Amino acid sequence: MAERSLDSLSIAERSLRMSKVRSRGNASTEIALLRLLRGAKISGWRRHLKITGIPDFGFPQLHVAIFVDGCFWHGCSRCRRKVPSKNRTFWSRKIASNRSRDRKARWHLRRSGWIVVRIWEHEFKNPERVVGRLQMVLARAGNQVSRDAPNANATSASVDRKIS
Ligand SMILES: [Zn+2]
Repeated sequence: MAERSLDSLSIAERSLRMSKVRSRGNASTEIALLRLLRGAKISGWRRHLKITGIPDFGFPQLHVAIFVDGCFWHGCSRCRRKVPSKNRTFWSRKIASNRSRDRKARWHLRRSGWIVVRIWEHEFKNPERVVGRLQMVLARAGNQVSRDAPNANATSASVDRKIS
């Protein structure tokens, strides 16, 4: 399934998408979330779903997209990381364009019915909180799905159990 959809992308489109993945510059935070998901036994996700914005993690059945964003690259307003004084204009533009791309991707996804969760790099200082927040979102999304189609999903059930 995944392979077929990959083949259907033109080579140009594929390399554009891959360059977007690479330019997110968040490999270490992605791995941090991967560990948290596994630790909390949360299943049903896939990495880099081929939908708008290529979310780092996505729950296709629940329509939940998760972006793990590095504070510097994505211009976290809370951390206000200093832009290097060399090439200041370059960095500022780069971050501004990342921010605008992030915003558009979130908007598109929400418009097509996805729940978008954004996790900042700095939030990983409190991993329990990240997991708690995700479990809450997934449980809510699961309830939504099960109202629409009673047996649609097993993930939601396992999340519900953990929360109660
Ligand atoms: Zn931050």
